[in-house]
Amino acid sequence: MCGIVGYIGKKNSKCLLMEGLKRLEYRGYDSSGIAMLNDGHIICCKAVGKISNLESKLQNADFDSNIGIAHTRWATHGEPNEVNAHPHTDSKNQVAVVHNGIIENYAELKKDLQKKGCVFKSATDSEVLAHLIAMFIDEGCGLEEAVRRTMEQIEGTYGMAVICVKYPNKMVAARNGSPLIVGLGDDEFIVASDASAVVEHTRQIIYLNDHELITLNSQDYIIKTIQDIHVHKSVDNIDWDLGKIEKAGYPHFMLKEIFEQPESIHNAMRGRFDDEECTAHLGGLQKVKDRLRKTKRIIISACGTSWHSALIGEYLFEDLAQIPTEVEYASEFRYRNPIIYEDDTVLLITQSGETADTLAALREAKRKGALTLAICNVVGSTIARESDAGVYLHAGPEIGVASTKAFTSQLTVLSLAALMLGRMHNMSPVQGERIITALRNLPFQIEQIFKADKIIKEIAERFTYAQNFLYLGRGYNFPAALEGALKLKEISYIHAEGYPAAEMKHGPIALINESMPVVFIATQDAIYDKVISNIEEVKARKGYVIAIATEGDEKISQKADKVIYIPDTLPFLVPILSVIPLQLLAYYIAILKGCNVDQPRNLAKSVTVE
Ligand code: GLU
Repeated sequence: MCGIVGYIGKKNSKCLLMEGLKRLEYRGYDSSGIAMLNDGHIICCKAVGKISNLESKLQNADFDSNIGIAHTRWATHGEPNEVNAHPHTDSKNQVAVVHNGIIENYAELKKDLQKKGCVFKSATDSEVLAHLIAMFIDEGCGLEEAVRRTMEQIEGTYGMAVICVKYPNKMVAARNGSPLIVGLGDDEFIVASDASAVVEHTRQIIYLNDHELITLNSQDYIIKTIQDIHVHKSVDNIDWDLGKIEKAGYPHFMLKEIFEQPESIHNAMRGRFDDEECTAHLGGLQKVKDRLRKTKRIIISACGTSWHSALIGEYLFEDLAQIPTEVEYASEFRYRNPIIYEDDTVLLITQSGETADTLAALREAKRKGALTLAICNVVGSTIARESDAGVYLHAGPEIGVASTKAFTSQLTVLSLAALMLGRMHNMSPVQGERIITALRNLPFQIEQIFKADKIIKEIAERFTYAQNFLYLGRGYNFPAALEGALKLKEISYIHAEGYPAAEMKHGPIALINESMPVVFIATQDAIYDKVISNIEEVKARKGYVIAIATEGDEKISQKADKVIYIPDTLPFLVPILSVIPLQLLAYYIAILKGCNVDQPRNLAKSVTVE
């Protein structure tokens, strides 16, 4: 959460920093700010709300410098107001800091610093960083040493960038637990929370690791650990371009990303089929294949939408590979002392590869000796680097806060992994071949679903102002129902619940009346008739039934009030198709309500705090 960007070089940094902030805005957008070194002073400008507010304020301000830092905030400590917005400065205004993360021992540090005469302005945890660094500078440390000593004092997570009036040609950035990368340009450097803020200027980047700090001047840089040891790092190359993070004519990133799914799913599969052996070839897992073959149990840990993918992964691994599988919320897993054996595989699923709870779950699993695997989208992200092996989604940057294409790509990769594991155990080549054919067909089938756009819009119009929604499904469609409900909640603020259809009668059925829309995922599979009975139960109580059904199913049109048809596929691949109309329904309802779908209130894209 929150986005950091810093610049040191030859250009006037204002425009570059503002551009960078806009690219990072999906990470947090309750307030923003910018600070620069100008004529021996720190000049600072902050605004509440969207980055456009900061931009308007800056229009008349005389901001000109070739070194500066900027921040878009997702508040953890202190309400979103101008005072709490970053950058934060020390009492004498000589140091300015932007911070992403949480300083857990800030209260004690603040008390000590106040005793020493520091005057705090904000209610944030982050402000202690500025005061601590300034204190060490006053004691005679250089900027780098002051940041290093501050790192020794603080507990918690941070990605930070620091400038100081005493060092007009220097910037120091450091990280622990929050992402931070450095773009290497021509006599210029850009520090940022992720590559989207950098890609316009350079493709050469360095990933900082935890407990590392980088000191930059416009020509050079040096990286050290918190123990003051030099680190030599390789420079990575970003392999996607700006076009991937622009809206390409769509009104919102979310809509663009929904419509990108035929391509993103294709990319998740590309080069990953072994037609001769009727299996999947996942290059990232080759080095751990033997350990994987012997694994007795898989534990999948994730948060949010990725947790819904994990539930489908559980069904897939048990169904296709007969490997006992469990699913855990990463936030619970990390604190509840889970029992993990050495022949367990712990699989982490995260779009960003930076989710704080998932990262902690990974480290816990590693500590306990399990094989750790990751399914991530962001190449080079912390979880991708720290896990033993993994598979990338190759979905391209996902900017819309509500995940869409990352979800279907995760399901595609999980299906490939289940196919590979199944073929390692007792799946027949014939079954493997059927799965490959069905997977290959998915991108075309999604194109078909887009043709149902009109009916989805009609449903959205009818229920724009609904207070509640119920989403029901069984088997593989139960997690898809959870995901449909989550999408609606996230972007339209309508209360929605996902439930296993048969569980409805143990509670939610009490909510059903004529104003309650109930979305059933009722595709034709082994439990189709049971779902039809559940639909009858809702109709008997005057609920309004919207069914997602298999193409050609005429029976359902007599039961449901509205039907959205999706093409037929293998039962375990259905969620990849059934979720598409649910994403569109949530999108259209949110638009009709006038909500900001790309940046829903209180949410942020990459949850890098606990
Ligand atoms: N803890 C800091 C604050 O509340 C930074 C939060 C963030 O990482 O977004 O301002």
